[in-house]
Amino acid sequence: MAVGQSRRTQPRKPLIKLPRALLATEDLYIVPQEKKRFTRARSGIDTRLVKRCWFKVINGYHSCHILEDEVPCIQFIMKNILVIGAHPDDCDIFAGGCAALWRKRGDEVTFISMTNGNAGHHQAAPAELERRRRQEAAKAAEVLGVRYEILDNDDGRLVASLENREDLIRRIRELAPDLILTHRPNDYHPDHRYTATLVQDAAYMVTVPLACPGTPHLATNPVIAYLFDEFTRPTPLRADVVVDVDSVAEVKWKALDCHESQFYEWLAYNMRPGENSVPAEPGQRLEWLKNTWGEFLERPARAFRKELCTTYGEGRGGSVVFAEAFELCEFGSQPTAEELRALFPVE
Ligand SMILES: [Zn+2]
Repeated sequence: MAVGQSRRTQPRKPLIKLPRALLATEDLYIVPQEKKRFTRARSGIDTRLVKRCWFKVINGYHSCHILEDEVPCIQFIMKNILVIGAHPDDCDIFAGGCAALWRKRGDEVTFISMTNGNAGHHQAAPAELERRRRQEAAKAAEVLGVRYEILDNDDGRLVASLENREDLIRRIRELAPDLILTHRPNDYHPDHRYTATLVQDAAYMVTVPLACPGTPHLATNPVIAYLFDEFTRPTPLRADVVVDVDSVAEVKWKALDCHESQFYEWLAYNMRPGENSVPAEPGQRLEWLKNTWGEFLERPARAFRKELCTTYGEGRGGSVVFAEAFELCEFGSQPTAEELRALFPVE
């Protein structure tokens, strides 16, 4: 009998396919936390996240029987991803495809918007806009299957204060992500720049016990990577990982479609010509969105075609339309190329 032998003889759920990252692990048993008996798997499962569940890897490690699960314990063996954007739509734009792919393979994904988005409009009052944007983000979260948190910092007024840094340190510790994605610090908008700075400032400090001592520190610094941008000074983005998101492009479009106040109002007014060309009919807007923003979302694949071909081979890599690209940040943990690739949904 294994340590994880259940009182329940019949599994409550059918076999569940395990992610590739676990296929190389040995038999894995995790017992309830209260018994204080953990077996740490070779895949690097963080047993601190395990609460009241156990499971057993069977069938040559390709499947998992959930023997007892008060909570959906399969989650605990998956990756925990945190995307930190400046505004309630940035995470969706730059990592929405990956988020959909991560959720498909069972990973946990959390989006944090550092600001409440209450300045992103030419007509709406801030309080009303914030209310709308929270609703829009909640809808997009439902489409992508992610958790979306919007922090209570005013749009356009984010600063890299000690208070904001410590707030972020606590949030990162509580989520204990394997991977954090955020903007680069030389991005166009002050909120993007300070979001990047805050994440950089929280990196490493999340492992220092005497920093924010009220929240238990992390044993290891998470891996951090930057979201795509096209800025060239001091350096253009280097694509350490490029992910083909064509298979989930429709999901990503639907998530973007939720941000009505942005794509159909503010950005049409501020960044795009032809505000008056936005269809009034919600049913026609998605097509308008694809026609108007398609070229922008195709840029990562065009910019990193060589990397796509290296990752997926000439055939597939050469035909990818929508991709998402990321650059490894030096201030997080430094994974091997293989480990980095396994963190991302490259399939
Ligand atoms: Zn933004």
